[in-house]
Amino acid sequence: MNRELLLSLVKKYKSPLYVYDAEKIESQYNRMTKAFSSVRKLKLNYAVKALSNISILKIFNSLGAGLDTVSVQEVQLGLKAGYDPKNIIFTPNGVSLEEIEQAKDLGVQINIDNLSILEQFGQKYPKTPVCIRMNPHVMAGGNSKISVGHIDSKFGISIHQLPHIHRVVKNTGMFISGIHMHTGSDIYDVDAFIRATEILFNAAATFKDLQYIDFGSGFKVPYKEGDIETDIEELGVKLSKRFNDFCKETGKDLTLMFEPGKYLVSEAGKFLVNVNVVKQTTSTVFASVDSGLNHLIRPMFYDSYHHIENISNPNSKERFYTVVGYICETDTFGTNRKISEIKEGDILCFNNAGAYCFSMASNYNSRYRPAEVLVYKGKDYLIRERETIEDLIQGQIEINI
Ligand SMILES: *Cc1c(COP(=O)(O)O)cnc(C)c1O
Repeated sequence: MNRELLLSLVKKYKSPLYVYDAEKIESQYNRMTKAFSSVRKLKLNYAVKALSNISILKIFNSLGAGLDTVSVQEVQLGLKAGYDPKNIIFTPNGVSLEEIEQAKDLGVQINIDNLSILEQFGQKYPKTPVCIRMNPHVMAGGNSKISVGHIDSKFGISIHQLPHIHRVVKNTGMFISGIHMHTGSDIYDVDAFIRATEILFNAAATFKDLQYIDFGSGFKVPYKEGDIETDIEELGVKLSKRFNDFCKETGKDLTLMFEPGKYLVSEAGKFLVNVNVVKQTTSTVFASVDSGLNHLIRPMFYDSYHHIENISNPNSKERFYTVVGYICETDTFGTNRKISEIKEGDILCFNNAGAYCFSMASNYNSRYRPAEVLVYKGKDYLIRERETIEDLIQGQIEINI
């Protein structure tokens, strides 16, 4: 999506505005399936929580993806987007048995991440296939960033409790269809990730009716120039070979699954804001925009870097700016950024605004959440209206005081 297109979209739909490029989503999806093309059965389940607009979910459905969901509401969104429930996996953490039963009743695959629920679910529904989320507890490669489950992580069932899992399976007669891990961190080092998967392969070998192994996600995309990204092609070559060998050795005809969110949508998104005020203080030049941590919280919440460009005036002298929001709390998007000279009324563009941006937006300060636009096959579509005062008061009940 070029500068002129983005500026025309702000003109048409106003700011602040999220814009998503369907072509980029598609190319990331295709890049990943291509990297694993030597695996006979591959399934990519898009992690809904990264960006959950129904039109985005429909794109993934048309590409042949499944969905990874973490709440029963995400399951419902997926069904609304037209997914076959068999192509939806429910991978929650610490939810009630009741919510898992709701998901089961909707016909989706259940992934259980603790022994208590496994035992209760297995006793009540021994015939329903279940996937188990393992916590492999490895600090692969000695790099803490690659850790796929700290010893004190709240996720998954400890790999050391495998004997207990088997006891529950035997006692209940339940059917384990898949095993799963999710690193939750950025994969920098493919070899370290491969070593971590060995633990899962070892566990997988102990389940006789297994149908799939789900290696979760954690694929890293570049946020700035020179940033490391997961070498998906290298991972594809190495893990595919290991996976195919495993299937041959064990005589299992398994599906290899992943559940990427960030990798598929991060780079497809741009966030466009208007500069309200340029303020020069004794030490800093601030550019204050018509947004804040209510719309894009990653810089404040995770210290994430989002590249910021002045698309209204791209080729002027570069100066240093601190880009801040309008929320009555410190909400700094970027400090000391070298940006082409900013005037009030210019449009700034934030990159990597596809994943965990709109989906983490709130109404803090009683502000409306932004509109969302999808650029699909050369046309722009409004896929979420900007909110109005009606949205803010919807559901509130006034009492007589
Ligand atoms: C969030 C999440 C993902 C997606 O992670 P990304 O880093 O966005 O790829 C995958 N699986 C589970 C279980 C998750 O909770």
